[in-house]
Amino acid sequence: MKTVKVNVVTPDGPVYEADVEMISAKAQSGELGILPGHIPMVAPLQIGVVRFKSGSNTELVAVSGGFLEVRPEQVTILAQTAETAEDIDVARAKAAKLRAEERLQAKQDNVDFKRAELALKRAINRLNVTENRY
Ligand code: ATP
Repeated sequence: MKTVKVNVVTPDGPVYEADVEMISAKAQSGELGILPGHIPMVAPLQIGVVRFKSGSNTELVAVSGGFLEVRPEQVTILAQTAETAEDIDVARAKAAKLRAEERLQAKQDNVDFKRAELALKRAINRLNVTENRY
């Protein structure tokens, strides 16, 4: 089976590196499937789960936006934050989800709703990865 080298990188450093048979990601324009030999491109990503498949193994990584870049020999995902399932602190994500939900329910002018909405999305995305849902 053909494979392509993939790297997930954040401002804090590399998060994941592997040779995989397929990459699935949620681009702004919709679901993306990348196989080895894909034409070069750059696509902005949504807050979502990226799946890396090789053989019967699928690794999940939670990313908060960023970009996916396909080059002939390599796929790079550059994201503000990215975590593999093992690196996600479930209690922290649950607390972040609760906090964001409370902010969204508050009828106060000083709440930044867009910011709370994004925090909620990040928390739900992290929980989905730990629960193997996507
Ligand atoms: P919180 O309110 O818990 O900080 P957040 O969504 O605001 O959550 P981010 O700004 O997206 O956090 O991330 C800040 C840093 O913390 C990043 O390095 C990210 O990978 C890490 N991080 C955030 N939430 C978790 C989590 N639940 N488990 C592990 N690492 C996390």
